[in-house]
Amino acid sequence: MGGNRDIGHHNKRLGKDMSTPSKLVIRNIGLLLSGDLSAPILDADCVVAVDGRIAAVGREADLDSENAATVIDAKGTTLAPGLIDSHVHPVIGDYTPRQQQIGWIDSCLHGGVTTMISAGEVHLPGRPKDLVGLKALAIASQRWYENFRPSGVKVHAGAPVIEEGMEEEDFKDLAAAGVTLLGEVGLGSVKAGETAQRMVAWARKYGIQSTIHTGGPSIPGSGLIDKDVVLEADADIIGHINGGHTALPDDQIVCLCEQCQRGVELVHNGNERSALLAMRTARELGQSERVILGTDSPAGSGVQPLGILRMIAMLSSLGDTPAEVAFCFATGNTARLRDLDCGLIEVGRAADFVIIDRAQHAPGKTILESIEQGNLPGVGMTVIDGVVRSQRSRNTPPATTLPEIVG
Ligand SMILES: [Zn+2]
Repeated sequence: MGGNRDIGHHNKRLGKDMSTPSKLVIRNIGLLLSGDLSAPILDADCVVAVDGRIAAVGREADLDSENAATVIDAKGTTLAPGLIDSHVHPVIGDYTPRQQQIGWIDSCLHGGVTTMISAGEVHLPGRPKDLVGLKALAIASQRWYENFRPSGVKVHAGAPVIEEGMEEEDFKDLAAAGVTLLGEVGLGSVKAGETAQRMVAWARKYGIQSTIHTGGPSIPGSGLIDKDVVLEADADIIGHINGGHTALPDDQIVCLCEQCQRGVELVHNGNERSALLAMRTARELGQSERVILGTDSPAGSGVQPLGILRMIAMLSSLGDTPAEVAFCFATGNTARLRDLDCGLIEVGRAADFVIIDRAQHAPGKTILESIEQGNLPGVGMTVIDGVVRSQRSRNTPPATTLPEIVG
């Protein structure tokens, strides 16, 4: 509950008066991770945000840091874009019926996640599968997460699971009603590549982004989607290419990386060995920008509040990937592939940050070294739209040094 009181405190301080811009200054940043593969570490120690947007990034001496409503002293710790979970299955509010769990999104915020993308509200008990019902659910889900952000986390939801019998008009209606995502193709009755391709193309025509379930059945009732179906359907994101849970054979995973240009999504709720294979293949192809991370939670394996951090540490340590690059998989890459306004430390982007440090007593001389040795960092603070949303994480190992709100 401490975190909630902090939020109220800051809202009051930032005020609702739109005539005075609310300014946030984060100074004394020891390491600034950009989320951008082309320059994952920035030569800067200060970020200024105005009205929830990044207004300046650089050396504090060169920036206008006066008259800030909130000043955070990062105390030499690391700032990164807030993490993006590319694959979640929310239902309503901060409750998941899948594991009868309350507060799972707040728990993920404490793992550094500030944005989530729904791959379908599939865990709703009694989920409607008729066309009117599934469209109504998608529109309602989009609205209730737009109107209510659990602990401030941005949940992009309202992702219908497509069913046989849908026509172009249905996708047009969904788009007009504000739906921007499809749930995982393959979780409904559409399992043939040809039908999936037709519907994915209709969705794309109306600006709706698509993800396809890849691999074996996840739970009773879902089915196998192999590489031929994935390639034919041509969804924007190859959802959990490492399976959720069951992965495709290695040769099919390599083939998916080589034979199309779509997003390569690696999830915590999948096969870790296959995730490493897909990441290595994408990197060898010189296409690291396709790699994005998700948890696929809530699921049969539960909720993983530290799932994105765990994926970063796993891929970095076992996959010989610099930690700053692994962070890009969970931030800038996802933002670009999914057309989000966050995920990069760049002027004009949403001021969504996570401040982290090497965990107490973690081996490695720096935070990056400790992650490259497979250890999780400690989360010290999260910021969403320029507002502090959580301070010392209740879920990560404790950070060696914590940032402090000093003004
Ligand atoms: Zn799936």
